[in-house]
Amino acid sequence: MTTLIRPADAVRRIEAVSRRVQQPASTADLVSLAVGEPDFDTPERIVRAADEALRAGWTHYAPLKGEAPLRRELAARLTPLLGRDADPEDIQITHGGSGGLGAAILGLVNPGDKVVLPDPTYSLYADLIALAGGRAVHVPLQDDLHWDLEALTVALSDAALFVFCNPSNPTGIVHTAEELLALGRALEGTETLVLADEAYADLVYTAAPFTSVLQVESLRDRAIYCQTFSKTYAMTGWRLGYLWGPTAAIAAAGRVHATFAGSPNTFVQRAGLVALMECADEVDRMREAYTRRQHVMFEALSRVQGLTVQAPEGAFYLFPRYEVDLGSVELVAHLRRHGVAVRPGAEFGAHGEHHLRLSFAASEEAITVGVQRLADALGALS
Ligand code: PMP
Repeated sequence: MTTLIRPADAVRRIEAVSRRVQQPASTADLVSLAVGEPDFDTPERIVRAADEALRAGWTHYAPLKGEAPLRRELAARLTPLLGRDADPEDIQITHGGSGGLGAAILGLVNPGDKVVLPDPTYSLYADLIALAGGRAVHVPLQDDLHWDLEALTVALSDAALFVFCNPSNPTGIVHTAEELLALGRALEGTETLVLADEAYADLVYTAAPFTSVLQVESLRDRAIYCQTFSKTYAMTGWRLGYLWGPTAAIAAAGRVHATFAGSPNTFVQRAGLVALMECADEVDRMREAYTRRQHVMFEALSRVQGLTVQAPEGAFYLFPRYEVDLGSVELVAHLRRHGVAVRPGAEFGAHGEHHLRLSFAASEEAITVGVQRLADALGALS
């Protein structure tokens, strides 16, 4: 007799809401503009630091909150943004940004709690809210892909939490200082917390400097800040991130993180410290490459008939709207048959429908060939 395996209700809750799709395997003749990670390898100095740490015996459990030198260095970097001393005790090192997001949401959201999300947004949030038993309320973005602050204000009135990323995946939009100030005003007098995922904060292409939630006085006392080494340092496979926030929020998230993940990877934290201290030039080099690529992709997409595209502001995505009367999942399948892989807008929320997400974390040649194939494939439909 075979044993019947029944997934827990939490798993079924995730499956009921999840829009996350595993990408089909790439074929040799396919140009991929679908990936959500840097195409650069991790800088050599960081790799060497991990190698040295392993050989020096950094192979044991780390403190549950993370290594003190790393937390001290991160706190020193947050201090000027906060305009007051960040306490290293208010930092929890996590297994990537994903580990931080999971720990924060499971640490702060009760079953039935209302959690507000912009729509479209990064698809992990809704799954984590389902895991926690919370109730996600999706607030559509405006046509320009910025927040609809009026609709947000209404939705946020009785919410436990607002989760957002800035710069945004999938839209490539940067929410401005003015938008953050307006969010602060909308939350005045409420107990709503915000979880600010700034995974792409080092990849911004606007003339105006990026404003972190940490710099906004009306938000910082209710903000949990989630950060990762994945994008800035091309370290997606290393699984290193961190949370900062109010002491009680970090204690709650830290309790969850220690319970489901244990201590963060020891030698990876040693390498992370070297990334912070020694790799500013590598970050600049990669940012310069992305800056050139976003220009190439935006110019090429702007010339494609039937697409409307906003200028890229941050991250490494463009999120054009298309006119052809076809769902984004079907359109993506059609594009693959024409040799280019992109992601369907619907993967990031119901209101992402009729959009495509293109990543410019790819070579300039791949971008040029990929957008030409997209243009040809759209032309074949109209
Ligand atoms: N936040 C956003 C907005 C992302 O796009 C990603 C990765 N796609 C993450 C968090 C998670 O990154 P990681 O777990 O690798 O740190």
